[in-house]
Amino acid sequence: MICDWKLLKIGSCQHPGFMTIKGGSLACHEFPALVGLLIHETFGPIIFDTGYDSAFLEATKPFPERLYRMATPIQYDESQSIVNALEKYNFAPNDIKAIIISHFHGDHIAGLRNFPLAKIFCAKEGLKQTKIGNRFSRTKAGILSDLIPPRIECRAKFYEDYERIALPNEFAPFLWGVDLLGDNSLLAVELDGHCKGHWGLIARTKDKPIFFIGDAAWSMKAVEENIPPPNITIGLLGNVPKYKDTLNKISVLRRNSRDRLEIIPSHCVETYGRWGH
Ligand SMILES: [Zn+2]
Repeated sequence: MICDWKLLKIGSCQHPGFMTIKGGSLACHEFPALVGLLIHETFGPIIFDTGYDSAFLEATKPFPERLYRMATPIQYDESQSIVNALEKYNFAPNDIKAIIISHFHGDHIAGLRNFPLAKIFCAKEGLKQTKIGNRFSRTKAGILSDLIPPRIECRAKFYEDYERIALPNEFAPFLWGVDLLGDNSLLAVELDGHCKGHWGLIARTKDKPIFFIGDAAWSMKAVEENIPPPNITIGLLGNVPKYKDTLNKISVLRRNSRDRLEIIPSHCVETYGRWGH
């Protein structure tokens, strides 16, 4: 059981609205990089993603990686670091027992190197994407290989290696997931479409389940109204039919579950306004 959870903002970036939702405005909007801090009653503190980090700025100094930073200009300084954010809850980096990774885009994993002792839960397929192609193709795919800690495999547990379990009806139309700790408290769920190896996480808290959906939607408006980004934006990084199918399922789940489940998109400014600390 997760006995407490917090939503942290670790930097943010700017995108024109129309890139993230069909019919959105030309104006640039803030997209926070949100991180879930989950306190498991016996396992200890865990984070879902890491958000931005000074390592992101370092990794995007040279070309072609600089193109990533130019495409999504970021607002980040050390006062916003994950280490500082955790300190507010009296956690040092080495207190964090595990990091659960939604996917390997730079804005989700830039802070990994702050946590050399943490267990890593991630998709094998996602990690594979950080090792193939060349610097240009990886940058185009949102991947900065310099952010991956050395020998990450030694402390990684891959979602694909778990036995799939049937999810309770309350999470329909999602049918299966994997039970990361074996106690039903943290269920990783594949959310296909945004990029290869993209997974979400259902965390069972004392109050109600929290479904971190990563980049399967960029805002709660997109979930509520089932409005995907334009095909061209989805297609830059992922698979259009799979993305739309996943968003549709999340949208149905939202309609069916209403207040019995919280959905947390990784970059939703309203969600941060509601839950952020
Ligand atoms: Zn992403």
